Amino acid sequence: MTTICVFCGSSMGTNPLYKEAAKQTADYFVQHRLKLVYGGASVGLMKILADTLLENNQEVIGIMPGLLIEKEVVHNGLTQLIRVESMAERKVKMVEISDAFIALPGGFGTFDELTEVLIYNQLRVMDKPVGILNTAGYFDKMLDFFDHAVQEGFVRAEHRDNLIVSDNIETLMQQMQQYQPVSTKKWIEDIKSESGK
Ligand code: AMP
Repeated sequence: MTTICVFCGSSMGTNPLYKEAAKQTADYFVQHRLKLVYGGASVGLMKILADTLLENNQEVIGIMPGLLIEKEVVHNGLTQLIRVESMAERKVKMVEISDAFIALPGGFGTFDELTEVLIYNQLRVMDKPVGILNTAGYFDKMLDFFDHAVQEGFVRAEHRDNLIVSDNIETLMQQMQQYQPVSTKKWIEDIKSESGK
């Protein structure tokens, strides 16, 4: 894993630990010479992440739809800015060029990107590790809901278990390096037979 995509808030969040988590993640990237792919903005946790890497001469690729570039939230110091037509195309590009994905605390944009890559893995359109940096338990309620969805039979336990979670960036990255994709065939067979096919 050398190119990692990070999804995170366009806001800073209320708890100072969120900013610290973004900084620690950036420091980890610098130490391990990892390339960052992200939304390309110069606001929120995204700004902390990108600025820290750029200050350390580390490569940062921003992917942004034209509509957001025109709103002037784009980071002007990026190593590379990839302009795309839509939010959907941005996610496709992120998946194409990244080896792994990490969600830091964020809002709907972060949730959207996180669930998108989970579905890519679920459908085996890709087989890449997806992790959550669960700073200050920010994602606890979302993870509880995912467990609820497993209990209620809408999410397979193995797909839920595919999601790697830690509140520590080093542990998270170590676990992501050991990621093993689950087999899909049985799942597809099961959902077909449940529907009488
Ligand atoms: P949010 O979590 O709702 O703050 O959205 C942040 C995530 O969605 C990031 O990972 C970005 O890829 C994308 N995003 C949302 N808003 C922006 C923005 N103003 N500029 C760039 N990317 C954004």
